[in-house]
Amino acid sequence: MSEKFRALLIEKKGEEKDAPQSVRLADLTLDDLMPGDVVVDVAFSTVNYKDGLAITGTLPVVQKFPMIPGIDFAGTVMQSDHPDYKPGDQVVLNGWGVSETHMGGHAERARVKGDWLVPLPGGMTSADAMAIGTAGYTAMLCVLELERHDIRPDRGPVLVTGAAGGVGSVAIALLAKLGYRVIASTGRASESAYLKHLGADEIIDRAELSEKGKPLAKPRWAGAIDTVGSTTLANVLAATEYDGAVAACGMAGGGDLPASVMPFILRDVTLAGVDSVMAPKDKRLLAWGRLADDLDRAKLHAMMQEIGLGDVVQAAKDILKGKIRGRIVVDVKA
Ligand code: NDP
Repeated sequence: MSEKFRALLIEKKGEEKDAPQSVRLADLTLDDLMPGDVVVDVAFSTVNYKDGLAITGTLPVVQKFPMIPGIDFAGTVMQSDHPDYKPGDQVVLNGWGVSETHMGGHAERARVKGDWLVPLPGGMTSADAMAIGTAGYTAMLCVLELERHDIRPDRGPVLVTGAAGGVGSVAIALLAKLGYRVIASTGRASESAYLKHLGADEIIDRAELSEKGKPLAKPRWAGAIDTVGSTTLANVLAATEYDGAVAACGMAGGGDLPASVMPFILRDVTLAGVDSVMAPKDKRLLAWGRLADDLDRAKLHAMMQEIGLGDVVQAAKDILKGKIRGRIVVDVKA
């Protein structure tokens, strides 16, 4: 009989589309996992905003049941039929529909396609990789997007919304290390010292951006990384300087965009979308390489807290309430 391992399991009671889902810690075997050519001994996973949506069932993230949540993980290859990986290799996975259509990282074992994996960057531990996690890797994709649109430090300040969250925290630390002047927008004034420690030069109250504003406002930033969406993103665009760029990756404030075309047609502003889930491998390798070089490890450690597999459900509820600061790392063996 194959060895048992612990996993968080989301199940659906009944066949109907709107049947309620439940979550429990289960003992599984490799036979319970989905097909793939690499088996990974998972060391760490994380709790991202999307994990919150999946585990609570707030949005239909999970498309197959039963499902192991966890959109990312880091660990060691145990078995491999993939030419790029052999037992003992350290690997990282983000996205690719894991926790949606394929079983994810909130388990001691995962079986996935080797094509979805990237090698753990040199000098990084598995715990560091998951302190970064999908949130931090997405923050890096946003920085790359700003660079692609030539938003360099000498162009002016860069705004980060949802600043005290996972994407926001890593974005601030990255931008500060790269020499940008960073404006952090937060609803938590109590986190000002934390945000300044990460590298924010100025902190603004997110209420300044959350009410419907004018199609064009006084220019305040050359670029922005937006994790909030909705009216906030519309106001961010309206206050972006001529030829500036906004990298939009999130919807913590809502998935709509009640904006005007004015920033695009009168100020040459670019709205750049960022998706981490289906990003091609070369982009992932670039992002992870840059994270290894450009993210201050001491700041990374200051923004993370570690929990065990049994604490994930509560953390999933908390992240949707905006109560989590920085990054949650899940030690799946704890
Ligand atoms: P977190 O919950 O860690 O951070 C979100 C932050 O947004 C909160 O900490 C809070 O920051 C702010 N916020 C929360 N609710 C509201 C609200 N109603 N109005 C305004 N601000 C709010 O989540 P993550 O950082 O993990 O993810 C952020 C967003 O990015 C999510 O929507 C997530 O789905 C998305 N995402 C997208 C990816 C992609 O591939 N495109 C990949 C990863 C994440 P504060 O308290 O400082 O105001």
